[in-house]
Amino acid sequence: MNKDSKAKLTVTINKKILENAKKVAEEKHLPLSGAIENFLEFFVEPSVYCFKCGRKFTSKEAEVCTKCGWMICPHCKVCGCSLGEETLRAVFYMRRTFEDLLIGRVK
Ligand SMILES: [Zn+2]
Ligand SMILES: [Zn+2]
Repeated sequence: MNKDSKAKLTVTINKKILENAKKVAEEKHLPLSGAIENFLEFFVEPSVYCFKCGRKFTSKEAEVCTKCGWMICPHCKVCGCSLGEETLRAVFYMRRTFEDLLIGRVK
């Protein structure tokens, strides 16, 4: 399949949200289709940055730690187990932001 081939998407969403989204897209000089495409790409395959080594990985390539329930970074093998309580909280709520967006767990 050609990665760059385009298909038309017709969806019905909240009118006010759409109006506001168009405004923001205009202000940022970004096409709304680009924002939707970006989100859907993340929706299909969420990718995150490792809090330790800073490298990006996708949820598909990461194993989940049975102890802490976090994804283990495939690059440096670090998960939530090595974090202090305060950092753990910070990362937990950061991840929650994404999960609200995705309407479900990242992994
Ligand atoms: Zn890492
Ligand atoms: Zn762990």
